[in-house]
Amino acid sequence: MLIDYHMHTELTDGTGRPADYARVAVERGLDEIGCSDHAPLAERETDWTMKKSDLETYVNWVREAQAKFPQLPIKLGLEVDYVPGCEDWVRELAAMYPWDFFLGSVHYLGEFPVDRSAKDWETENVEARWREYFELWKKAARTRLFDSLSHPDLPKKFNFRPTTDFTSVYDDALGAVAESDVAIEVSTAGLRKPCREIYPSEPFLKIARRLNVPITLGSDAHIPQDVGAEYGKAIALARSCGYDKVCRFTLRKRDLVKL
Ligand SMILES: [Zn+2]
Ligand SMILES: [Zn+2]
Repeated sequence: MLIDYHMHTELTDGTGRPADYARVAVERGLDEIGCSDHAPLAERETDWTMKKSDLETYVNWVREAQAKFPQLPIKLGLEVDYVPGCEDWVRELAAMYPWDFFLGSVHYLGEFPVDRSAKDWETENVEARWREYFELWKKAARTRLFDSLSHPDLPKKFNFRPTTDFTSVYDDALGAVAESDVAIEVSTAGLRKPCREIYPSEPFLKIARRLNVPITLGSDAHIPQDVGAEYGKAIALARSCGYDKVCRFTLRKRDLVKL
């Protein structure tokens, strides 16, 4: 099964509508896709998240794509930011529509944007930021508000990496994920970023496999042409780490299918 569960639309920082992504998915022979545009934040509006008033349009666009491409299962999802204190809002959001899945993401450490620009990282204590990121990521898992955690080692995006061994940090973070029975995403987006690497790295994914953490696959497409981008590499990495199954979600219930 080729499944892409991570893509955006023109309501946020993407281009096009779900039907445009579905068309490319059909052309590329994908078996299933999931739309996962950036959910509105609880307390503020940004230029990269939906407004609360956009949700209905978003859901209607996904329904339109489903009607237009009946041969392709198209799941209704959201990429939801984990910000401490946001839990009630995420629950409220979950009750609004019959969502199939929520991706949980950590894009901000307080005011610090993890993935906005290399410049933001230049003056930072890289190792401290990485630790802070995984602490928050762990908390996100423990809320059990998300079905899969996106782009697990996002702080590597601009190639600012810790110089010490992070195995114990990964072990600890993935331990929390395993306990919480959440999946993690294998994302090809990193291949298109300065780090030129799939999220997460091979050592990280091997630990996840050892702890029986299930995976979802995603391109994090912001343009329709990126749907299923470089999936051969993602599948090869997942297989080399011992995975032979991926998750699918329907109304937030998980099932595993052959990779
Ligand atoms: Zn993201
Ligand atoms: Zn995304």
